[in-house]
Amino acid sequence: MATPLLSPAPLQVDAIRADFPILNQANERGQRLVYLDSAASSQKPAVVIDAQANYYRHDNANIHRGVYALSERATTEYETARKRVAAFINAPDPDTCIFVRNTTEAINLVAYSWGRQHIQAGDLLVVTLLDHHSNLVPWQVLAETQGAELAYARVTAGGRLDEDHLGRLLDREPKLVAMPHVSNALGTIVDVARWTRRAQAAGATVLIDGAQSAPHLPVDVAAIGCDFFALSGHKLLAPMGSGVLWGKRDRLDAMPPFLTGGGMIRRVTVDGTTWAELPAKFEAGTPAVGEAIGLGVAVDYLTELGMDRVRSHERDLTDYALDRLQRLPGIQLYGPDDLDERAGVISFAVGEVHPHDVASILAEENVAVRAGHHCCQPLMRELDLVATTRASFSVYNDETDVDRLASAIERVIEVFA
Ligand code: PMP
Repeated sequence: MATPLLSPAPLQVDAIRADFPILNQANERGQRLVYLDSAASSQKPAVVIDAQANYYRHDNANIHRGVYALSERATTEYETARKRVAAFINAPDPDTCIFVRNTTEAINLVAYSWGRQHIQAGDLLVVTLLDHHSNLVPWQVLAETQGAELAYARVTAGGRLDEDHLGRLLDREPKLVAMPHVSNALGTIVDVARWTRRAQAAGATVLIDGAQSAPHLPVDVAAIGCDFFALSGHKLLAPMGSGVLWGKRDRLDAMPPFLTGGGMIRRVTVDGTTWAELPAKFEAGTPAVGEAIGLGVAVDYLTELGMDRVRSHERDLTDYALDRLQRLPGIQLYGPDDLDERAGVISFAVGEVHPHDVASILAEENVAVRAGHHCCQPLMRELDLVATTRASFSVYNDETDVDRLASAIERVIEVFA
C-alpha cells in the first residue's frame, strides 16, 4: 500500500523568534517589530551572532599559514563551515564550494573567469527577465567585451518564465544559460532542474542564481545538475559578507583564477606563478573567516529546522497572506497564483498609491517591507510597472505578522481614500 504523503511537522515560530534578538523590539507605540524584508537580507539567530563573536573573542588569526593554536583553530572552523555548506546544498565535494562575499561576487567570478575563457564573438548568452541585476549586468559586460549576443527569456503576465520563448532561445544553442531559482521580485520558483537538462542538451553551461532559493527551499545542486550555483549568506540567516559559489569540479579546475595574489598560488617566481588547487585558487587574499564560520552555523540551524519544514511553513504562510490580502479593496497582487510555483514573496500595489508611500505608512506601523524595482528594472518594464511594495517571509514570520501587514495596509487605504 502506498504511504500517504504527510506534511512535515509545523515550525514552532514563537520559539524560533526567540532565537533572533533583533526581533525583540517595539516602536514607541509598543508595536512589536514585524520584519518582512528577508528577501533583501534576513535577520540572524543568536547562535550565528555568537559564533562570529566567539571567533573574534577566542580564535581570531589568519588561516592556513600559522602553526600556532589560534590559527589552527581558525583554519579548522573555516574548513568545517565549508563542509557544512557543502552538505546543505548536497555538493559532492566541499572543495568545490568557494567562499565569496555574496551572490554578486560569485556570478562575477564565473562571468570573468569562465566567461572570458569560453565566450567568443558571435556566441549567444541567455538570461531571463526574471533575473536580478546581479545575474544580468555581469553577462551584459561579458557580452560587450567578447562581442557576444545577450538574449533575455521573456516572462508571462502572471510572472512565470515564457517557456516557449526560452525553448526557442535554446534552439539557437546558447553557450550559457543563467537563470534564477527563485525571483526576488515576484517569488516565482523556476523548475531549474528541468531547464538545466534542456539547456545542457542544447550545449549550454548553466548558472543558477540561488540567492532566493537556498534560504527557503531544499537545494540539491547534484540533482539540479547545473554547472554553477551562487548564494548569499546574508539572506540565509548568516553574516553580511558571506556567500558561496559552487561549481562542478571539472569546470572550476579548468578555469583561470578571478583574483590573484596571496593565498591562491602554488609557487611564485620572478618568471611566473602557478595556481593552488581548489578551493584556494579562487580565494585570493585573506578571507572573511568569521563570516564564513557564521554561515556554517546558519546552515546547520536551518538544517536542524529541516528545509522541508521551512518550505512548507513559508508556503502555508504565503497561502494565508494571498488570501488575506486579496480581500483588501484596491489591492493588486503580482506573481504566480500556483503556490507550488511561488516562494514566500508577496509583491503588491495598493490602488494608485506610490509603493514608497505604502512602505512608509507600513513603517509607521512597525512593519518593515521594501518598495522599489527590487534590482529588476527589465522585469518591471516588461510587466509595465515602475515599482512594487514587497513583503517577504522567513522562518521567524507567522500569521500574526501577516495580520499586522494587512491592518497596516488598511491604514494606507484609509489615509489615501
Ligand atoms: N540574485 C537575487 C535573486 C537576489 O535576490 C539578490 C539580492 N537581492 C542577488 C542576486 C544579489 O545578492 P547580493 O546582493 O547578496 O550579492
